[in-house]
Amino acid sequence: VKKLAKDYSKHAFDINEAAVLGAGIMGGGIAYQAASKGLPIMMKDIKNSQLELGMSEASKLLAKEVERGKSTPEKMGRTLSLIRPTLNYGDFATPDIVIEAVVENPAVKEAVLSEVEDLVKDDTILASNTSTISITRLAKSLKRPENFVGMHFFNPVHRMPLVEVIRGEKTSDEAVATTVALAQKMGKTPIVVNDCPGFLVNRVLFPYFGAFDLLIKEGADFVQIDKTMEKFGWPMGPAYLIDVVGLDTGVHGAKVMAEGFADRMKPDYKGSIEHLYEQGRLGQKNGIGFYKYE
Ligand code: NAD
Repeated sequence: VKKLAKDYSKHAFDINEAAVLGAGIMGGGIAYQAASKGLPIMMKDIKNSQLELGMSEASKLLAKEVERGKSTPEKMGRTLSLIRPTLNYGDFATPDIVIEAVVENPAVKEAVLSEVEDLVKDDTILASNTSTISITRLAKSLKRPENFVGMHFFNPVHRMPLVEVIRGEKTSDEAVATTVALAQKMGKTPIVVNDCPGFLVNRVLFPYFGAFDLLIKEGADFVQIDKTMEKFGWPMGPAYLIDVVGLDTGVHGAKVMAEGFADRMKPDYKGSIEHLYEQGRLGQKNGIGFYKYE
């Protein structure tokens, strides 16, 4: 990281204000993380209920810090006031970076990124928190692809140290450097990775979910698999993990991966995750996935 920071720092410019598109699991987490490091951030969604959810999750995390004596009610108030929830693009001429964290659907992402590109300053960086979609592919719909970069946080944002910074074919050094510097400012450990579907971590994770699905198909019990992986030493097993991620995000990501690696993955394969998703089970976000949540 030190070497990266040194190599890139001469290209980075300051980020004094940010915006995030989407106030879901990831957008809310990114807004909390930015604000907790003192960075003002706008959080835009198309649903007020999601904005309320994002703000209440941030409040809960901050309240825990106060309970543990790590913060004060005043500091909590100041941090929360740095997050500005909004349903419209009114103030988008000011942020230095906009991080897109809407649903994992290439068409929706392309539409949202093009929409916002027309509203921001010419040198504003557009970043995508996509889990799987190639940055070069998403950049095709943009007028300034050099300002576009992948900034892939992990879930839950406040706990996971890694951020993948993805360089698309046309991404400039300035955009990469600024994103690396921002990830550090947000208390994270950035790694710069080349562009391909799934980048680095999800190239490893999706085959793991695929293997889990095959075990289920062969009759294994998901609870047993989870317990075994926990005994193996992992913090959680695959069924619980996909519930945390969101089955919708998993299914959409798997489609992108299967398209990208058609020689290795079966695009038509429907496993247990997709079957549950088709029954409306999204995981923790709607209270039911492999497990039920209160
Ligand atoms: P989510 O379903 O929790 O949230 C998506 C949000 O986007 C919703 O609040 C929705 O209302 C909003 N949205 C939809 N269309 C919009 C638009 N046009 N403008 C503004 N907001 C819009 O999903 P999530 O888990 O937060 O995932 C968001 C992105 O982050 C996806 O690309 C996903 O692949 C990626 N990601 C997810 C995880 C994870 O574990 N869930 C981890 C890393 C990256």
